[in-house]
Amino acid sequence: MTTKKENSSLASSVIWTPTTIQEALAKKKEFGADACFISGGTLLQLQWENGNKVPKNLISLQLIQKMQGIEVERDHDCKVLSIGALSTLATCQNHSLVTMERKLLSEVVKHIAAPAVRNQATIGGNIAGRSGDVIPALLVMDAEISLCNKVSSLKKSVWSWLKDKEDQQDDLLTQVHLPINEQERNMHYFYKKIGRREAFTAAIVTVAGSMSLNELGELDHVRLAVGGGDNLPHRLKATERLFKGEKLSTVTWKEVYSSILKEFLPTTDAFLSADYRKKVAAHIIISELQELVFPSLK
Ligand SMILES: Cc1cc2nc3c(=O)[nH]c(=O)nc-3n(C[C@H](O)[C@H](O)[C@H](O)COP(=O)(O)OP(=O)(O)OC[C@H]3O[C@@H](n4cnc5c(N)ncnc54)[C@H](O)[C@@H]3O)c2cc1C
Repeated sequence: MTTKKENSSLASSVIWTPTTIQEALAKKKEFGADACFISGGTLLQLQWENGNKVPKNLISLQLIQKMQGIEVERDHDCKVLSIGALSTLATCQNHSLVTMERKLLSEVVKHIAAPAVRNQATIGGNIAGRSGDVIPALLVMDAEISLCNKVSSLKKSVWSWLKDKEDQQDDLLTQVHLPINEQERNMHYFYKKIGRREAFTAAIVTVAGSMSLNELGELDHVRLAVGGGDNLPHRLKATERLFKGEKLSTVTWKEVYSSILKEFLPTTDAFLSADYRKKVAAHIIISELQELVFPSLK
């Protein structure tokens, strides 16, 4: 049942607390642009402090049971780690199923904010905010998300969801799904978040990658993704194609470098130019891939 709380700190806003996905969607439909979903509230709080308008209605998702919990499920022949969108980043860091089955996610969330924020912030909010540092890692893990809106519910890859930006503003993100299959056991991953200092700082650039070698010694599953700061996370698809069917000895790293510079179009802000961000991303991606390939280099 949806209940209503008068909110004293955000003077004129009302917080709604639906207990089901349907009730949350109904509230969004009722109030439209005068309402927003809120999970941990940590990103929204930053945005409000930066001058964004607080909506008249806040639809808290915290009481929706169906968006909680972490479990391994079966999807046809594949095992999938399903993570409720309300799982906090701290839970994603420490939950035994995540550390056992998809360790990269557990490692990635350690680089986000400070422990107190991670106890409150959710994985759903990190993704739905569209610039969260988790997203590049999800892109290279071929993650999918479950979404519900007033007419349907569907599962789609994080990659296609990011591309279809416009249609989905009222969608509720309910779960994140990470495949666990045999190929996964042979995958190598990297993730780097570069900030202006070591910790507690927004990213200049965030990069993630994955690769595996087939029995012929060819690269057959290279995924590269970039994001960080205000940059919309995305895959570097053209650069990925340069590795297809190549052996490690035949990769032309100069071509890879140029392709990253061409494909990654970051923002310029008061502190750093887009050009600088591109070069940082290209250097890190190449160095991390070479480290995966030739571990003795470091
Ligand atoms: C001090 C500080 C440091 C931070 N550092 C980092 C950092 O290093 N890296 C980083 O990525 N982020 C950082 N953040 C931002 C934030 O903490 C994370 O992005 C967090 O994961 C957001 O989750 P949340 O549950 O708090 O989202 P909320 O603030 O509740 O929501 C964020 C957005 O997503 C929408 N939303 C929330 N849940 C859902 C859902 N299930 N379905 C649909 N829409 C939804 C909301 O309407 C809102 O637009 C920081 C924040 C603070 C305060």
